[in-house]
Amino acid sequence: MTIQLSSFLEGRWQAGTGEGVALVDPTTDAVRATVSTEGLDLGAALEFARSQGGPALRALTFAQRGALLSAMTKALHAQREELVALAIQNGGNTRSDAKFDIDGGTATMAYYAKLAESLGEKRFLVEDGVEPLALNPRYVGQHLSTPLTGVAVHINAFNFPAWGLLEKAAVAILAGVPVVTKPATSTALVAWKVMQIIDEAKVLPAGVLSMVTGPAGDLLDHVRTGDAVAFTGSSGVGEQIRASVGGRARVNVEADSLNAAILGPDVESDSETYALFLRECARELTQKAGQKCTATRRIFVPAAVIDQVSEDLSEEVGAVKVGNPELREVRMGPLASHRQLEDVQAGIAKLAQSCQFVRGDGQRGALVDVAEGKGCFMAPVLLRAPSHTTAAVHSDEVFGPVATLLPYSGAAQAVEGVVLGRGGLVASVYTDDKDFAAEVLMGIAPWSGRVTFGSARVAEHSPGPGMVMPQLVHGGPGRAGGGEELGGLRGLSFYSQRTAVQGAKPLLEKLLA
Ligand code: NAP
Repeated sequence: MTIQLSSFLEGRWQAGTGEGVALVDPTTDAVRATVSTEGLDLGAALEFARSQGGPALRALTFAQRGALLSAMTKALHAQREELVALAIQNGGNTRSDAKFDIDGGTATMAYYAKLAESLGEKRFLVEDGVEPLALNPRYVGQHLSTPLTGVAVHINAFNFPAWGLLEKAAVAILAGVPVVTKPATSTALVAWKVMQIIDEAKVLPAGVLSMVTGPAGDLLDHVRTGDAVAFTGSSGVGEQIRASVGGRARVNVEADSLNAAILGPDVESDSETYALFLRECARELTQKAGQKCTATRRIFVPAAVIDQVSEDLSEEVGAVKVGNPELREVRMGPLASHRQLEDVQAGIAKLAQSCQFVRGDGQRGALVDVAEGKGCFMAPVLLRAPSHTTAAVHSDEVFGPVATLLPYSGAAQAVEGVVLGRGGLVASVYTDDKDFAAEVLMGIAPWSGRVTFGSARVAEHSPGPGMVMPQLVHGGPGRAGGGEELGGLRGLSFYSQRTAVQGAKPLLEKLLA
């Protein structure tokens, strides 16, 4: 059955005109839904959020906003199975991929609901620390952060239709700012269902959460001072969005990244650290068919052991069954669309000009339960570069199940290699040598949003570099967009104005209590 998706604007469902865009099942090529935003008044939608949702949210305490997040989480959790089914149909997700997206989203929302409890009855944040400003100790200054009075416009990538929506919305709503969210069109089915569930649960005041389902149209033309635009997607579109919003509003860009893993020279092949390295590299390569902004793309390995690592990682990746994502035995499904598949194959062809294939070559390979010629399938691809500086590996993000091994010698070369990626979301370092860890950290930290250390001590507990934690910041410098999201309370600052207040101490104590 083909569903016609609508947008949720001005507190009601509205369908665009015209034929619309088809949303396809990447396993079978069947059309699952169509969507259009033609003819919708997106300016009115933003104004409704500003004028209705904003005042309603700002009137609530943090604890009350947190209660909204809790109620949304509960409603979504109750329909988790339906969301998982749609993620399989429209995203080509395996069950485990779908849960990573959906449970990741609700867990982030639940985390912010809990954080809200700790903020209690306040409506704005006051920084600790009263600054003396004069010889007279009664004249002081302090900083407070109040919610922006506009709307948060969220534009999300195709690979996390649930998590992308929920992680951004949780932070903005807790900060006191209403949201107009726009999922990527090709996988919008899950996001649309999330919005339906939240609407049916009737837990939010009018205008707190709206959705533009489908192409953005003239959405950004209506953004104005006091609004905030948070974008997740490719660097190219991120730059376009920055340019089109200009100086009218704040813009946060979460873009692409050539995430790196480094195997330390101290790691023996029979150690727990080595097993963790292999397990995590194979998972990053194949989870969500490599379509994760945090997936490892470049794997730096000591030159002396690169033959063995090529063999061992190839074996680990080879154990992953690819095929119909509905089957429990299948661990990797198709790419999300034919456009994605073509982009990834073009990226592999570029890499192959200077690298050797270790496993896979950009073709379908052996598939489980897939009709001949149907779907957007590709077997995982592992390549090997001749040097840690091989240019092609550091230039373009190939957004699929593709990673390249690069040989290095000494910490300085490992750092040089990572830095050639021009800014990343996450780098993982596998070592039990604290001196190597320290040297690498100081070299790569200015170029990384997050660094994870894998070692024997944490082998059992590591969720892997691909898992974004709401307690920690997500984002990265340079190519990764220069943005920052989440990070507990840090995330609220993008949706807030920090104001320095000066005056008599008793007055400030009263105003900022
Ligand atoms: P994309 O092509 O850049 O699209 C991202 C979003 O921007 C989509 O919702 C898209 O809408 C919208 N968009 C495109 N042109 C626009 C315009 N002119 N005005 C307003 N919105 C516009 O990226 P994608 O293919 O969906 O996602 C893959 C990329 O996202 C990868 O590069 C990946 O690394 C990156 N990513 C980054 C993070 C992170 O946190 N840093 C997370 C996930 C993904 P339509 O779909 O309607 O075109």
